[in-house]
Formats: sequence, C-alpha cells, structure tokens
Amino acid sequence: MTDTRTLIDNDRRHVFHASTHLRDHAHGDAPGRIITGGKGISIVDRDGREMIDAFAGLYCVNIGYGRTEIADAIYAQAKELAYYHTYVGHSNEPLIALSERIARLAGNGLNKVYYGLSGSDANETQIKLVRYYHNVTGQPKKKKIIARQRGYHGSSIAAGSLTGLPAFHQHFDLPIEGILHTKAPYYYRRERGDMSEREFSVYCAEQLEALIQREGPETIGAFIGEPVLGTGGIIPPPAGYWEAIQAVLKRHDILLIADEVVSGFGRLGSDFGFQHYGIEPDLVTIAKGLTSAYQPLSGVIVGERVWKALEDGTGEYGPIGHGWTYSGHPLGAAAAMANLDIIERENLVGNAAETGAYFNAQLKKTFSEHPLVGDVRGEGLMAALEFAPEKGEYTPFDPSLKVGARVAAAALEENLIARAMPNGDILGFAPPLVIDRSQVDEVIARAKRAVDRVTDELT
Ligand code: PLP
Repeated sequence: MTDTRTLIDNDRRHVFHASTHLRDHAHGDAPGRIITGGKGISIVDRDGREMIDAFAGLYCVNIGYGRTEIADAIYAQAKELAYYHTYVGHSNEPLIALSERIARLAGNGLNKVYYGLSGSDANETQIKLVRYYHNVTGQPKKKKIIARQRGYHGSSIAAGSLTGLPAFHQHFDLPIEGILHTKAPYYYRRERGDMSEREFSVYCAEQLEALIQREGPETIGAFIGEPVLGTGGIIPPPAGYWEAIQAVLKRHDILLIADEVVSGFGRLGSDFGFQHYGIEPDLVTIAKGLTSAYQPLSGVIVGERVWKALEDGTGEYGPIGHGWTYSGHPLGAAAAMANLDIIERENLVGNAAETGAYFNAQLKKTFSEHPLVGDVRGEGLMAALEFAPEKGEYTPFDPSLKVGARVAAAALEENLIARAMPNGDILGFAPPLVIDRSQVDEVIARAKRAVDRVTDELT
C-alpha cells in the first residue's frame, strides 16, 4: 500500500484544490489530509485520526457519514438504469417520485423542479429564468438582480457574481454587469449601537429601497438571499428583516429567490428556511441537504407565477433553450429519495430544531462572557462565534492576528472541525443533523479548549 506521505506528495503535484492557497499547498507549506471514511458525525483520515466534523463537510452531510443504505439505493438504481437524459420529456421513476416529494415538502405553489448538480449551476438556472420571465412577460428592461454583501451563491461566473464576498470577485473580473449588492443584515456589526433589531431591519429595507430607486425600479428583476446568511458569517436575520424586505420587493414587483442550498431539508429545524421565516419565494435553490452530498444533485423549485410565464413563453417561442446532460440524473434522484427517507424516518428536521436549540443555548452559556468572544449567534443547527477584543459594539481584532483561523486550527488539534469563515474572525458550526445532546456537549468542550488556548496565546 502506498504510504500517506507519498500520496500527499502526489496530491501536491497533480490536484488543483478548491478554495486553497495553491502555492502553499503545492510547496508543502500547508497541511494536506486524506480522508478515508466516516461514521455518524465523525470522519477519519488515512492515519486513523478521528475528528468530529462539526461542519458536516461543507454543511451538506446532513444524515451523517457512513449511511450505507444510500449506497444500496444508488447501486440498485445503477443496475436498473444508470442514466438517461430528461430532454424532450424523457423521465425516470426516482426523478418523478422525488419531484412529487419536493413539491409536497415545499408547498406554496412551488410545484416544478429543474435539476442540476451543484448550488452554483442551480443559481445559473435562476438567473436565466429571471431573464426569460421578464422577457416573455414584456418587461425586457427588468433584468438586474440584487444580492447581498456577504451573501454566498456559488463561484461560477454568474452565481459567483451574486456572491457578495470580495475573494470570489477579485482577479476574476466579477461581478458581471447587472448584478448588484445591498446591505447584509448583520446586526452585530450595525453602524449605530442604539438601534433595535427591528429598527435595523427597517434600515436594511430602506437601503434596499434606495438602491432600487437609484437603479430605477423598472430595471430590477429579482432579489436573491439565503434565509440565514451562511458562508458570509452564519448570520441569522434580525427580527422583522424578511417582512421588511418582502414589502419592498412586492411594491416594485421584484421576484424573490430563496437560496436554500444550506437551509433546505431541515438545517434550521423546518423543511425549508422560507417556511421558518415566513418568506414567500417565487423560486427556491436547493442542493447539499437534498442528497446529504452522497451524490451531486441540485435543483430550482419554480412557483406558479414563473411557471406560467415559462409555459406561455414556450407556447409562443418553442422549447426552452436550457438543459444539461445530467439534469435529473437517476442516481442523484435515487440517492435523494433514500436521503429524504432517512430524514423523515429519524425526524432529523425535529432534531435540528430541538438539538439546535440546545446547541445554541449551550454555546451562549459557554461563550457569551468569554473574553475572546464578541458575539454568539445561530439558528437551528447553524451557529457561529465571532471573536472581538471587546464586548458590546463591534470592534475587530487586527486581521494580521488571524484570530479566527487560529481558533479553527486549535480546534483541529482537539480533533474538532469547525470552519473559519471569510471576512472576519468567525468560527462556524453546522454539524450533521443526526447530532445528539451528548455530542453537542463534546463539540462545545473541545471548542472551549481551543478558544481558551488562543486566548492564552494572545494575552
Ligand atoms: N448557495 C449557497 C447558499 C451555498 O452555501 C453554496 C455553497 O456553499 C452554493 C450556493 C453553491 O453551491 P456549490 O458549491 O454546490 O456550487
């Protein structure tokens, strides 16, 4: 058997890694790790080191690792029909069952599902649908899309433009034209400390209104947002936020896209985040939790209003010019069905609500008064600690101290994976939805040791 060192050397020579410091990795200045297995909330590397994965991969392995029933479902489907396309009305049985099931879970007239393979490609579909919708309904100027600063919607050309994080734009000539960004609902970093959550929500809505007025309401086609900002810092919306935002969108007849790539299928303790916050989307993006990442599969759930335009449009102009070889792949659909069976059978949505509430309460109890921690926030099984030198109003640490990255590294020394989020000293948690209370206690104990260690180093 090839030893791990040699494998990692080969990796450094030939693998172009996602979101990685390429030079440091290629030259051996950053660690490499080969993951070989996992069970429940833990993964194991090639040297036999077991780590609790409190970020569920990239908040996607919601049913936990090592669920062989998913492998069985994929195998059974592969023996029966491994592939056929969905062009010109072709379908396959797991796909039909899955689409019925998603429509049932989503409700609210969200009845049709288009499939892709990643959250990024699903958001590319969203952008095309927004354009098509406004073109065929006679509003060809209404094309711009408003996303949010710190939003994350993928890293392809158009979805990467929707993303509101500088690292995904710089040196790639993004964002593309027609994509705008409005204020993030980041209450902890509000400009004025005396604003209540509700006042801050109204302020965010006013900022959105001002942007729409500057651009001209007749040019704004859609707004996209994650129910809880994820990669941008795990930021639950302040009270009244979605209500205030939706009032603005309704006033100007702007389509609303809920990006539920992270929040869909249970993470917030509801089937979808839009249900959790009373959002009424026209379009919904799904991926990750749809298959718990056991197969690549994403989707766009289309509501009645947009669907009608699609029907009318194709009635007038012919078949829609949108489709990928792997749209509606039967192996993805089989994996998704088996995944949703587990979520239902084990009541993982209920567990995300219940154990999520416990997790957030324990985080607050453990860290609210901690000298290194400025903010503790979360919803369901998404949570974050934000590090700051002072309590109260937000003041950042000197970025060169790399506090967030150091805490994540210290956590890893405790065999705990939590994620240092970009643009701030933020440690994110989003464990598999199968986590129980005693495992939460263990995650928090390890996180506490890590935060204490960095605190000692800094003082
Ligand atoms: N949308 C959201 C909210 C995400 O968090 C992500 C990925 O993290 C994406 C879209 C992009 O998904 P993918 O990485 O599968 O392209």
